Formats: sequence, structure tokens, C-alpha cells
Amino acid sequence: MKVKSTLAVGSIALDTLETDEHQQTDILGGSATFFAVAASLFAPVRLVGVVGSDYPEAGWRLFRERNVDVSDVQQVEGRTFRWGGRYSSDFSTRETLFTELGVFESFQPRINPINRQSGIVYLGNIQPSLQLAVCREMAGAPTVISDTMNLWIDRYPQQLQEVLAKTDIFLINDEEAAQLTGHDDLDSAARDLLDAGPATVIIKRGREGALLAAGDSRRHVPIFPDVTVVDPTGAGDSFAGGLVGHLARHGMAELDRAVIVAAATASFTVEGFGLEGLLAATTAGIEQRADKIAGRRD
Ligand code: AMP
Repeated sequence: MKVKSTLAVGSIALDTLETDEHQQTDILGGSATFFAVAASLFAPVRLVGVVGSDYPEAGWRLFRERNVDVSDVQQVEGRTFRWGGRYSSDFSTRETLFTELGVFESFQPRINPINRQSGIVYLGNIQPSLQLAVCREMAGAPTVISDTMNLWIDRYPQQLQEVLAKTDIFLINDEEAAQLTGHDDLDSAARDLLDAGPATVIIKRGREGALLAAGDSRRHVPIFPDVTVVDPTGAGDSFAGGLVGHLARHGMAELDRAVIVAAATASFTVEGFGLEGLLAATTAGIEQRADKIAGRRD
């Protein structure tokens, strides 16, 4: 089986994060960063995005160390995307303190001819107009996997419907699924999302695991047990990275295992602050946790 390359767009950010125990300012983050670090444990990743003149060398070094192709990441004059978030004591809720688009405000994605040929496109959390622009740039008919977030559902619901229509596998968390569809019950939300285009919808449910919905089939995927949560930031993006990385490496038929690998990947992310937990993960360590999750499900 030929391993596929994934082209990924999303935020490349400097995050300011607050939990009861820790607080840090301007640390490496962003949906594309968490995704790329996770997915590159399994298969090649090509990033599309933009950073400002203030983007630290540590970010470039991280992508180099993970063999992430950054030839389509532009660096322009201005400020890097910044996001601030604060968690409740039990991590069950998160408040966005600020979202500063910075250089993403006027970003026009450009994709080089080799990267346009990628077999998989991951449209990570960012303005839906940019997700659509990346789709338009692709050659051939790649598999499209996408994600979004409350801010974009609020601001651009119509464009999100266009993203959904182009999507093969759609990832979303439970609250956002309710916000987007108007349905609180998961099954109705999944049904509406499936009707909007994707063949598969994965609803992430935090501590409750995830729901994998395709056609009339519904499968529950539990989380990895006994994890001590330090900071949930990036859990969703690294879940996507594990999922897409596994599919790129083993093929699209491996969806069931890919969702389990996704849950195992996210379990590492939440164990550390910012990127620290995910950076400590290895491919073998993720597979071991995935085996344990699979054992809980059967
Ligand atoms: P997650 O915890 O998986 O939802 O992802 C958190 C990451 O997403 C952080 O590193 C943020 O920089 C990034 N982020 C937060 N809000 C947005 C947004 N509206 N668009 C794009 N990225 C965002």
C-alpha cells in the first residue's frame, strides 16, 4: 500500500492558555500545528498557512524536526494568529478570551504543483473561505477531511455548508454539532450533517469519547482511560491528526481503527500543557494505547 501525503490548512498560532494550575503566553499552537505534529507520526504532511514576522524560530524548528513540508507556509509582515483560552477547573468548559486573526485576515493560499497532487486534504479549523480556497487549488479528487469551530459556525454558516458539501469525513465536537444543526441529540445532529454531504461524520464528545456515523451505522469509540488532564488545548486537532495520519498510512478502509488511533493520539495531547503532551507521544506509544481502547470497545 502506498502511503499518501496529506495537505493541511489551519491556524498556525501563538496561544495564551490558562488553567487553574498553569498560565502561559504566546506558546506554539494552532489547529494546523497540532494536526501536523500528530499526523506526521504516521505519514507525510504538507502545511498551507501563514505566519507573521513575529513567528519564532522554535516553530520552524518543530516543523523541520517532524519533516513537515512548509514550502506553502508564507511568512509575511504582521502579527501571527493569536488565540487565548481559559478552562474551567474540571476542564469541562472553555472560554475564548480572544481570537486575533492577524496575518490570516488577508491570507491567500498558494499551493505548489507537487502539493496540489496530495491524495488527502485536511481542512483544519480556520475561516471557511480559506478552507474552500484550498479545495479549489487541488488537482485531482483528493479525499477531503474537515473540521470547524464555534466562531466560524456563528459567522459563516452558509460557507460552512459549502465546506460540508465538499467533505468526505467531517469532524466536529458535540456542542458545535448542536450549534450547527440545531439538534441537541447526537443522532439527529449526525443525520443532518450526513445529509449535508459527508459520507462519514465523527462527533467528538470529550470525556464521553466519539461517535462514528456513516449511513445508518453508529459506533461509539471510548476514550483512553485514566489520563490526568493538564490542558485539553489541541485535543480535537491532534485527534484529527491521528485519524488522518492512520488513513494516509493504511488506507481509507481502515476508518474504524483510525478513530481509535485518533482517540489514543488525543490522550497524549491532554496530558501536557500546550504541545508538550503530544510532543512526548511516539507512534508505538499511540498504537499501544489504541490497542487498549479497542479492547474496551469489543
Ligand atoms: P482544539 O483545542 O483542538 O479546539 O484546538 C485549539 C487550537 O485551535 C489552539 O491552538 C488555537 O490556536 C486554535 N484556534 C482556536 N480558535 C480558532 C479559530 N477560531 N480558528 C482557527 N484556529 C483556532
